[in-house]
Amino acid sequence: MSTDAEEVNEDRRKYEFRKVIEELKEYEGSGTQLVTIYIPEDRQVSDVVAHVTQEHSEASNIKSKQTRTNVQDALTSIKDRLRYYDTYPPKNGTVLFSGAVDAGGGQTDMVTRVLDSPPEPIQSFRYHCDSNFLTEPLEEMLTDKGLFGLIVLDRREANVGWLKGKRVEPVKSASSLVPGKQRKGGQSAQRFARLRLEAIDNFYQEVAGMADDLMVPKRHELDGILVGGPSPTKDEFLDGDYLHHELQDHVVGKFDVSYTDESGLYDLVDAAQDVLADQEVMKDKSQMEEFFEQLHTGEKATYGFGPTRQNLMMGAVDRLLLSEDLRSDVVVYECPNDHEEYEVIDSRHDDPGHVCSECGEEAEKTDREDVIEHLMDIAEQRGTETKFISTDFEKGEQLYDAFGGVAGILRYSTGV
Ligand SMILES: [Zn+2]
Repeated sequence: MSTDAEEVNEDRRKYEFRKVIEELKEYEGSGTQLVTIYIPEDRQVSDVVAHVTQEHSEASNIKSKQTRTNVQDALTSIKDRLRYYDTYPPKNGTVLFSGAVDAGGGQTDMVTRVLDSPPEPIQSFRYHCDSNFLTEPLEEMLTDKGLFGLIVLDRREANVGWLKGKRVEPVKSASSLVPGKQRKGGQSAQRFARLRLEAIDNFYQEVAGMADDLMVPKRHELDGILVGGPSPTKDEFLDGDYLHHELQDHVVGKFDVSYTDESGLYDLVDAAQDVLADQEVMKDKSQMEEFFEQLHTGEKATYGFGPTRQNLMMGAVDRLLLSEDLRSDVVVYECPNDHEEYEVIDSRHDDPGHVCSECGEEAEKTDREDVIEHLMDIAEQRGTETKFISTDFEKGEQLYDAFGGVAGILRYSTGV
């Protein structure tokens, strides 16, 4: 149960991070006025304060008064924030952003944002000044991480390794004693061919053993295995069932790759881009397929903000499906005579207004909240799982376009 709850919070944190990053990416400053600091969890806060103090005093050499003031203000604001921490920053570290951003018409606004405890540990300290905030390292942490086993082979050599997220990690290699096609004089052709086949068979077994040792212990975490090499080697290898049967089931694609040294592992990942993109949305796809199946043949589907919210409130939603691209607010209206309350989803710039159906008075806006946070709050209270669905596939796009980005798979049919 606790892991479920943690997972929910993890999704929520990722969403909150994504939103702040989207905001930060919009900002621009002139020159190199926008300061970003990445602090790993094992870096003493006092070290960082000393670094920032140093930068602050160096900034006094900046000629333009405006720039100098802006940079020093940003650094002061960062120093103020650093006071909130004890000796070390929180788990996984922290990222601080501060600077004077263009507000149009020659004006600037001072912006300061702090992102504590990112989803992955910050690897190294970075102090960065630019006309934009540095968000890429955080964005990489937010992309879905996969674990893929990699095998490249021909009859001469083989390499195995991992693809972890976007990083290729070569692990082991082997080279074969398979003789070339040219037989030496005096050897019978038949005997030569037999020896050669034996050597090939031995080599495939060796490669499979190498892959088994590496990947069988991780088979439950694996998202797939990619196999590369020239034809017919990789086909012989796969068709011959050399791999452990549980690994064989994990093979998601085979690809023509010219090199079978370490660089071949990188070529394999390049060649497999389409398959990898498919794998990334595979889990989202199966959620959406289940939703559509319920929509067409069953009764356990709900969609659109209003009905989904109502079902959520009833505790009838098993899984809440939210489009990753959904960015809207929920506006709460209340009748001034206390007749009714409405929650309406609207786009950030277009507010339709509401009239009480009982007394006809214009309802008052009493609250405005991010729609995803609003729905996730209810979901958490009702023990409903939330799934974010990407728009990188057709049914994911449909969730966004046709269903307003909000849908649910129900525990039971409610008729709502
Ligand atoms: Zn009313």
